[in-house]
Amino acid sequence: MNIKYLLVLLFLILFGGYLMKKDKIIKIVSGFALSARSEMRMVGVRGDLKRVVRRAIELTPFDFGITSGKRTAEEQNALFKQGASQLDGYSKKSRHQSGCAVDFVVYDENGKVTWGFSYYEQVSWAFKQAADELGIPIVWGGDWVSFKDGPHIELDRAHYS
Ligand SMILES: [Zn+2]
Repeated sequence: MNIKYLLVLLFLILFGGYLMKKDKIIKIVSGFALSARSEMRMVGVRGDLKRVVRRAIELTPFDFGITSGKRTAEEQNALFKQGASQLDGYSKKSRHQSGCAVDFVVYDENGKVTWGFSYYEQVSWAFKQAADELGIPIVWGGDWVSFKDGPHIELDRAHYS
């Protein structure tokens, strides 16, 4: 047996192991996982947006859940009548109606639901990083000037109608 050959083989085995380990560390960085309930609420949501959500949960500094995905016009109108949305679902349609948007809720460091804007901002960084990695342009509602919608993520209109 050639000692050089053995050394090269040993190097390849160790290097391969290192790469696999590195990949795993990147994937479990947040320690959070998307719940079955969140997945259920994404039924009818565009595949690209689901991919962003599934990657964001691996990157997020705080746990989050999906509260709303695709809506019918009737569902959107009901929210409008409750004053929960400015869009009536008919003359003004929501991005939720075309499956291009999701709403999320953030859990704080104690696992409690929070509406604190800074939590949503920090989770939005995970969504933005996920979108960048996947090459899927998104818009965070918290970046809007007139009506800040912290719990809202949508696919960029310029690329997804
Ligand atoms: Zn929304």
